Amino acid sequence: MRHVCFWLLAALAVAGSAEAWAAAGAGQGNKTVVAADVAVEVEGSQTRFKVTLSEKVTVQTRLMERPDRLIVDLPEVAFHLPANIGRKREGLIASYRYGLFAPGRSRVVMDLAQPAVVSAIRTEPSALSGAAILVIELTRVDREEFRKAAAESAAETGKAASGRAVAEAATDKRPVIVLDPGHGGVDPGANALTGAFEKEIVLSFAQLLKKRLEAQGQYRVVMTRDQDAFISLGDRVRAARAAHADLFISIHADSISGGQEVRGLTVYTGSERASDADSAQLADRENKADAVAGIDSADGPDEVMDILQDLTLRETRSFSHRFATRLVGELDSVARLNKNPRREAGFRVLRAYDVPSVLVELGYLSSKQDLDLLMSDEWRGKAITAMSVAIDRFFATRLVRQGAAAVLP
Ligand SMILES: [Zn+2]
Repeated sequence: MRHVCFWLLAALAVAGSAEAWAAAGAGQGNKTVVAADVAVEVEGSQTRFKVTLSEKVTVQTRLMERPDRLIVDLPEVAFHLPANIGRKREGLIASYRYGLFAPGRSRVVMDLAQPAVVSAIRTEPSALSGAAILVIELTRVDREEFRKAAAESAAETGKAASGRAVAEAATDKRPVIVLDPGHGGVDPGANALTGAFEKEIVLSFAQLLKKRLEAQGQYRVVMTRDQDAFISLGDRVRAARAAHADLFISIHADSISGGQEVRGLTVYTGSERASDADSAQLADRENKADAVAGIDSADGPDEVMDILQDLTLRETRSFSHRFATRLVGELDSVARLNKNPRREAGFRVLRAYDVPSVLVELGYLSSKQDLDLLMSDEWRGKAITAMSVAIDRFFATRLVRQGAAAVLP
C-alpha cells in the first residue's frame, strides 16, 4: 500500500546489544503496547531518549539527512503522553513527534539539533511492574560521519526493497489509482451533528470505491491509509509518488461555518491561487492537518521543486483539471453538487508534481441533508458508480493519447 519501507534493523547496527535486543522482541503479544512516558537525558556528547513501555518491543532505526532526523519504527504503540511533549530542544534532539504510521506500525521521528548516530539501544527494567524502558542513546558525531551513517541506512533500505511487493508492482502494468481518505488517527477531521467524524465517513467511502475499482480488474488500487491512522500530508504525497500513481483522489467531507444551507459535492484541483475565499480557507484548514495531529510540520517544509518539476506540475495539472471536470460531469446526475462544484486552492496534498490529483469534498457534515446522503448506502452506491465511470473515461482518453505519442516521432 504505502511506499514500501524496510528499515535497518537497529539490532544489526548496534554493536554488542544484539543479544539483549533479540530478547527484547520476544515478548510482543497481540495486545496494544502503551507508551506511558518519555524522558530525555543529556550527558556530555550523549543524549538518551527513554520511553516507558508496557512491554518490550523490537524497534528499527534509520538516520536521514537534510533535515537531520532519526526515524524509530515500532510495532503499534498507543502513546499516552502529555500533549506538548517533544516540542522543546533537549541535547541532541531538537524536537520529536510520534504517532501511528501505518497499520500495526508506529513511528517516532526525532529532529536532530546536531549530527548524531545511535550508539546503543537497550531495554531497562522499569519501576512500574511489567513495564520496560526503551533507551535509545545518541552520540554526537561530525558531519562526515553522520553522512556516512545516513547513507548506510539508505543503502540497507534500498537493498531490502527488492522484495516481492516491488517485483509484483513492476510486472503489473495496470494504471495505479491512489485513494486518500482524509485525516485519521489523532486528526478526526470535521465532526458531524450525529457525532460521526469525517475520518470515518471518508474511510468507509474510499474502501467502497476501492472495492468497486478492484472488481473491474483494470486498475491497481492503493490506499494511503486503510485504517484509523494518522498520515502526514507529505507522506500522502510521497505514497502517491512511490506507488507511481496515475491518479490520486483525496476524499473529504468537511464542515463549514456558513451553516446548514451550504452544501453539495465539490471537486478541487491544486492551484497556487484559490478560486474563491471559501476554497482558500478550506485549503488552509486542511493544510494544518499535521499541526492538528500535534505534529509541527511533520516533514519539515514542503520540498522545494526544481524548474523541471515545476513545469511537470503544470502539465500534470492540466490532466487534473480534465479529470475533475469529468468527475463533476458524471456526478452531476446522481449527487447533489455544490453551487460551484469545480474549485481550486493550494492544498498541500495535491502537490505530487507528476500525479494528476483531485480532492473531492463529498458534502458538508455541517448540512443535515448532506450528512443524510453520505450515510445512505443508496447515495454512496450511485456516487461510486459515477466516480468509476469518470475514472474509466479519464484513462480511456489518457491511454489513447499515450499510445499515440508512443508511435509518433
Ligand atoms: Zn477534510
